[in-house]
Amino acid sequence: MDKKLLAILVCPVCKGALEYRADESELVCRADGLAYPIRDGIPVMLDTEARTLTTDERLG
Ligand SMILES: [Zn+2]
Repeated sequence: MDKKLLAILVCPVCKGALEYRADESELVCRADGLAYPIRDGIPVMLDTEARTLTTDERLG
């Protein structure tokens, strides 16, 4: 994942900063509790494609 690309990406819902999780290949917005998938190195910044975080993930 390109760090420069990551720096300009924001959550499409709240426009907040995202957290990159390499293990899951996801970009996480804690404020919304959503995880956006990264497919073939390309972040999918659509709330319709995002996964809802579990309670543990929100806290962790
Ligand atoms: Zn958000």
